Amino acid sequence: SPTDPGDQPAGRGESDGKLRPHRMDEMVGQKDVIERLRIAIDAAQSRGEPLGHILFDGPPGLGKTTFATVIPAEMGTSVQMANGAGLRAPKDLLPYLTNVSEGSVLFIDEIHRVPKAVEEYLYTAMEDYRIDVVLGDGVNARTLNLELKPFTLIGATTRAGMLSAPLRDRFQIREHLGWYTRGELAEIVHRNAKKLAIEVDDPSASVIADRSRSTPRLANNRLLWVRDYAQSKAGGKVSRDVTRDALDMIGIDNLGLDKQDRNYLDTLMRVFLGGPAGLDAIAHTMNVSGDTLEDEVEPFLLRSELLVRTRRGRLATPNAYEHMKRPMPES
Ligand code: ADP
Repeated sequence: SPTDPGDQPAGRGESDGKLRPHRMDEMVGQKDVIERLRIAIDAAQSRGEPLGHILFDGPPGLGKTTFATVIPAEMGTSVQMANGAGLRAPKDLLPYLTNVSEGSVLFIDEIHRVPKAVEEYLYTAMEDYRIDVVLGDGVNARTLNLELKPFTLIGATTRAGMLSAPLRDRFQIREHLGWYTRGELAEIVHRNAKKLAIEVDDPSASVIADRSRSTPRLANNRLLWVRDYAQSKAGGKVSRDVTRDALDMIGIDNLGLDKQDRNYLDTLMRVFLGGPAGLDAIAHTMNVSGDTLEDEVEPFLLRSELLVRTRRGRLATPNAYEHMKRPMPES
């Protein structure tokens, strides 16, 4: 059975790498963010200093990792990639910190998952380019002061609110990445169709844009699926109808909701009578993690006004009943 492109974890596949912009001017949208970053990069370079630490927050697939790769490319420096979930103890962080070269970038994705004990090492590393490592314990404990090369930390998080204030305050630049417009997504589809050497006309690009939940990663995944489908079912020709059929087949509807999104709404309506219901209860019933729902499912449902969050829990809106073709419960 076909896999749902929307279900692919974090989209770190081979094609994702191929479609990822290499330079800032290949990026679409996020104009204000790009403008501010260009100024910061410019100023740092003319002073001969490392760029200030940068924190990106926003839902998955909006370009945080892309920024973390294009910024060092603009600066002509290298980048090391780490993940907050992998930095479980201070010793996991040390190789990255000791490997930084002057002016280079250390990227920590999911930085909200860095545990407190590791986070404390980041404070002095970020502030003074120095870490104090404690060797041994008890009366024999000695502190080793390690000097680091001046570097730039780029952090990314889907949950800015989960970051501690001391860590958050050590980022000089904080940028929130917002949703992309349909026009921007269509532009991304056109650019990537060129990279993939396939022809995609405007109506087809619009269908993909309409069904990509304002998210570039999803636009890319949908495009890759449409390409496969067209190759196997339509002699390689992508048209509006072929695009619709391809996306219908993997359960991506006209609003861009995928099976998981509809399953969420269906669960809320069927099991919890439309709510209000707690996130954990919904997550347990669906057998997925609350974090996944909160990061990857709810933001778009909220934005589409299919869902509201009240103090008593999640509530399906009249629009949601209409979209799911279910009758509203009485009262
Ligand atoms: P995040 O790190 O926020 O989860 P990514 O940076 O990995 O998101 O973006 C996912 C994919 O979406 C990238 O591989 C890239 O192809 C595409 N993408 C993201 N932002 C843009 C953009 N501004 N312009 C063009 N493509 C983008």
